[in-house]
Amino acid sequence: MEIIKEINILREKIKVRKSEGRVIGFVPTMGFLHKGHLSLVEESKKYSDFQIMSIFVNRIQFNDTSDFESYPSDLQKDFKLAEDAGVDIIFLPDDAEMYRNNLTSVDVEILTENLCGAHRPGHFKGVFTVVSKLFNIVQPDIAVFGQKDIQQAISIQKMVNDLNFPLRIVLAPIVREKDGLALSSRNKHLTSEQRENALCLSRSLEKAKQVIEAGETSVRNIISEMESVIRQGNPDSIDYISVVSYEDLGLINEIDVKSVIAAAVFFGSTRLIDNIIIEAGNGK
Ligand code: AMP
Repeated sequence: MEIIKEINILREKIKVRKSEGRVIGFVPTMGFLHKGHLSLVEESKKYSDFQIMSIFVNRIQFNDTSDFESYPSDLQKDFKLAEDAGVDIIFLPDDAEMYRNNLTSVDVEILTENLCGAHRPGHFKGVFTVVSKLFNIVQPDIAVFGQKDIQQAISIQKMVNDLNFPLRIVLAPIVREKDGLALSSRNKHLTSEQRENALCLSRSLEKAKQVIEAGETSVRNIISEMESVIRQGNPDSIDYISVVSYEDLGLINEIDVKSVIAAAVFFGSTRLIDNIIIEAGNGK
């Protein structure tokens, strides 16, 4: 596995691989890798035969400076995990390599109005800008994103369609701990008590699934059921509990279309997100 920090060098390497007929798979990350990230590499290997992973903590997508400054990092461990997972190149640019007096940004309208978009001003613009840059730098044939950040994945698919990026986006399922907690680099910040309490998030989504399977279609009722489960975990605050249509991420009142049920909850200053996708009416 090679670790490359410079755009020009990366481009040269990729050009050679492409000329050999290799199909380039790409997994963008912010590092502090866990099994969720590694599952994206596994998914990528199904569609491609040369794996590039980027590790870049993208300052411009953090609406909260202390969240950026405390973002966990362990590059040596990341390199080992990535290599074992079959990554061929890690792209590890620094801030100066990615942003030299950058005056251009990319945004996706409408899809970013609810969920995290409503609560993290500027976040998605920062994400779409860096992902566009990474797509142009790496020029992958496919790129894999996790359902964990469902609004991000759906919006990036739209961005790729709208801006004619010549690649395929693949969505990979959420990887969870045995007890249900969705893996996240930010879980590291949780105390053991918060870690235990944080289970209320995945439990609330399980609860939503159960009541839907039992025939509930009213979003108001579903949210209220979820809220009581989340309150049992004593969160410091609930950022949102929302149900949106999968298609356009617009708020809905009834579960009558494919939908996303999502929540964001604070434990201390750690903000955790989780979601499930519901195929209309059957709770799957
Ligand atoms: P991050 O490093 O948090 O920016 O995440 C990089 C990629 O990994 C994104 O596409 C995330 O959606 C994905 N990801 C993060 N956590 C998980 C998880 N628990 N399961 C699957 N994918 C994940």
